[in-house]
Amino acid sequence: MDGRRVRPHERGAHDAGPAAHTVERRHPPGGCDDPRDLDRCSLPSREKVAYLTFDDGPNPAHTPAVLRILDAYGAKATFFMVGEEATRFPALVRAVRDSGHAIGNHSYTHPWLSSLPEHKAYDEVARTNAAIGGRVTCLRPPGGLEGGPVKAVARKFGLTIQQWTVDTHDWKRPGAPAIVENALTPPDGGGAEPLVILLHDGGGDRGQTVAALPQVLAKLSARGYTFASLPTCTAP
Ligand SMILES: [Zn+2]
Repeated sequence: MDGRRVRPHERGAHDAGPAAHTVERRHPPGGCDDPRDLDRCSLPSREKVAYLTFDDGPNPAHTPAVLRILDAYGAKATFFMVGEEATRFPALVRAVRDSGHAIGNHSYTHPWLSSLPEHKAYDEVARTNAAIGGRVTCLRPPGGLEGGPVKAVARKFGLTIQQWTVDTHDWKRPGAPAIVENALTPPDGGGAEPLVILLHDGGGDRGQTVAALPQVLAKLSARGYTFASLPTCTAP
């Protein structure tokens, strides 16, 4: 355990995977009649998408490094920000947004929202939305814990609760190679679930996460994945 935040070993049941985890591949203009387009047209019509998610930031030591690496791979991701960190580092919130990534609500002070009275959970979520600014559409409750008032509060703010399907355990600092290996381990059920990968850019020393990230991107790319922001967290 590190820092003032308790890191969860377990997560609650999740009921809100992203609505769609595949993206239509664009066929060439004019369709697939031209033999020069055969290569593109013979590919499967849907491509694999991985959703990288970074919790507990923004953090001045790690978020800029994560942004640089994502940029280098042309990857989009989702940042579940803690409101008090967003308040401390508004320039980082802007940098994440300006880089084209999505931002979700991860509470203001990172308590277990499920254990709070509803008005306190409401306050945690409201203050974080205000700190992030713009239109926030998704919530990842700390620890993934959806009990207590969490669902009702999410509903009041029109937020989709967004869990993960792959836990890299990067918060335990198991070493960059282990983080890479964990990121590449398909979710239970043999990959039927969308790949929503839990990583951290804040809440402690995330040097190992930063060190692992290029390998995660390279290896998933080699498996045919592209990287997108979660549709649930992307305001229209
Ligand atoms: Zn967290």
